[in-house]
Amino acid sequence: MRFEGSFLDVGPQDRLECGICWWVYDPALGDDSRGIAPGTPFASLPEDWCCPGCDAPRHKFMVLGE
Ligand SMILES: [Zn+2]
Repeated sequence: MRFEGSFLDVGPQDRLECGICWWVYDPALGDDSRGIAPGTPFASLPEDWCCPGCDAPRHKFMVLGE
């Protein structure tokens, strides 16, 4: 488990899970509801992107383990 808010070492394939509602961002899928194209790494999401499940800000997300 990595620290919340640290995305420096988030890989382009890494999935991240919302710390509030457990919604998972999968780069392979993107985020349809907010116009994020499939293949978009978490680190490349817009600054104002937030969780589709609960509107939590990006820094509430944590990298999922293997
Ligand atoms: Zn959430």
